[in-house]
Amino acid sequence: MLRGQGLHAYRFAEREGENVSDEVVDRRSGIEDAARLIREARNVIALTGAGISTESGIPDFRGPQGVWTKDPAAEKRATLQHFVANRDARVQSWQNRLTSPLGMAEPNAGHAALTELHFKGKLGLLVTQNIDGLHQAAGFPASAIVEIHGTVHEFQCLSCPDRGPIETVLERVRGGDEDPHCQSCGGILKSATISFGQNLVARDLERSQSAAARSDLVLAIGTSLGVYPAANMVPIALQAGAKLIIMNAQETPFDEYASVILRGQLGKVLPEVAALV
Ligand code: NAD
Repeated sequence: MLRGQGLHAYRFAEREGENVSDEVVDRRSGIEDAARLIREARNVIALTGAGISTESGIPDFRGPQGVWTKDPAAEKRATLQHFVANRDARVQSWQNRLTSPLGMAEPNAGHAALTELHFKGKLGLLVTQNIDGLHQAAGFPASAIVEIHGTVHEFQCLSCPDRGPIETVLERVRGGDEDPHCQSCGGILKSATISFGQNLVARDLERSQSAAARSDLVLAIGTSLGVYPAANMVPIALQAGAKLIIMNAQETPFDEYASVILRGQLGKVLPEVAALV
């Protein structure tokens, strides 16, 4: 099954009765092999996705309880074009922000374990597709994080460079301004996240991809590896000779290239791995 790097792949079940088939080897040795690869590597980077934050109460998009799994039409509504063209969409979006778990969530043991790896000198750049700011909240230095899809903690004007803390805009929404516009130029305001149909920030993409090309081990954590160009980090790193560890509950398109695959809950798996590094 492993065509990549000659180690075993480990798929272990967390729930009793789950069909674990012949892929299950030994849970413990999966964690140990992951820790050993991290110890042996000299330049480890990580790509995290929505899966690391589900245990903090923020649903992912494509997991079994994912926002789009439950409501496929929501994916279409998440485009920049829809937001710009529809006042109703903007009003709804700002109202959603007032009650969203994104604003209230706390980091979990998985986020903390990645911070531990960083301060053990075993994880350099952390590229996250998440917009929730939970890696920073768990103490991972902001200077070593690329938020490739932006952040919900800031707003941006779509017409001028104005940008700032989202709370200033949320205050206006709470005060009755349903569709707040830029106080400098009158443009449409939006959270500083990258919507579908919106370009990534070129320097963030460059930093992520050049780190991938220099790495010798990539950790793909809580991501379906289906969103591009973020997921491109994995083939870039593999092509440069890096090894790959996937920690994700569901299959990904890159599973066959991974040296180790850990399918367990990240809030359990990551602390166990970090403790052995
Ligand atoms: P995704 O929804 O496509 O995939 C998440 C993966 O995580 C799934 O395969 C799921 O099985 C796995 N997963 C969920 N909980 C897990 C757990 N506790 N342990 C192990 N695995 C778990 O997410 P993606 O690949 O990040 O792509 C979705 C896009 O949506 C991203 O671009 C991101 O910007 C955005 N998003 C962000 C947040 C957030 O900031 N927290 C939340 C939802 C979506």
